[in-house]
Amino acid sequence: MKPQPILPTVQNYDWGEQGNSALIPRLLGIRPKKNVPYAELWLGAPQLKFLVKILTASKNLSIQAHPNAAQAKAGFAREKNIRDKSLRNYRDPNPKYEMIIALSDFYLLSGFRKLDDIAREWKKSKALLKLSEPPKTSIKAFYGKLMTLDPNLVNLALAEHIRALGPLSRHSKNSAAYWFLKAAHAHCPGTSKDRGLLAFYLLNLIHLKPSEAHFIRAGRLHSHLEGRGIEVMTHSDNVVRGGLTSKHVDLSELLKICSFSPDLPDILKADSDGEFTVPGRPFRVQMTPRKRETAPFLKAERGNWGEILLQICYKKFNQNLKISCYN
Ligand SMILES: [Zn+2]
Repeated sequence: MKPQPILPTVQNYDWGEQGNSALIPRLLGIRPKKNVPYAELWLGAPQLKFLVKILTASKNLSIQAHPNAAQAKAGFAREKNIRDKSLRNYRDPNPKYEMIIALSDFYLLSGFRKLDDIAREWKKSKALLKLSEPPKTSIKAFYGKLMTLDPNLVNLALAEHIRALGPLSRHSKNSAAYWFLKAAHAHCPGTSKDRGLLAFYLLNLIHLKPSEAHFIRAGRLHSHLEGRGIEVMTHSDNVVRGGLTSKHVDLSELLKICSFSPDLPDILKADSDGEFTVPGRPFRVQMTPRKRETAPFLKAERGNWGEILLQICYKKFNQNLKISCYN
């Protein structure tokens, strides 16, 4: 049997790209609608254990973490009778693991930094020191304290820190300050400041170049900041959010499922066979070079063995991808 075409579905979340330069309409060969953000292109097929998305972020997504298998099962059982779905963290009993493969320069926050690194950065800001001393022994205790401080104190200190940093143009994309300021302007231009902004000084800032990837384990606090990528994920909608969103934020649940041990900002590269070593092997991703097209190009099909076959060309990324389950 020939591979079957996959019909993509567009998601218009507010953090997506707009206008003629937006990548998703160009990949689909359609005219972008005016003032409509194009955030994700879902490439899924029924019965597959994973979903593939093209993700294009012009500003950051929420600060979030996903549950492991046991947490997802227990969380779903606990929350399944909550009528208002928007108040639920757990929508299904499945764990959620995700991996992002960069199509362009891609920036994200992922995993806590080492305690000493956090303390060193914290000490540089008079405003942040008004919220707390730098952490001494426990990142979990420090994060828990910050997330439960009086909102007025948080508003004043964050406003002071924003003023002290000055204009965005003064900072480089390799600094926490740049992304902190960009998120502050996008999410909370008024006097009420989102304490989720503090995550920029606690988490690893990761910069992926085209074809590099990052895997997000369960419990790893993260936020995609900006860029274009291919996201491969297990089939689950379980997200526990910690700020910078209009959706449900549940800090007490987040403190329960988060991993607070410092994580290395690990970047995955395909091996000589084009295969990524995906931790825990929830899915398999193989990448092989293809010829360059003149315009952005995407073709998605479902293969005979339940795999997704993508052909994609975009600037420095010209690859065939095969995403499948291990058997
Ligand atoms: Zn996520």
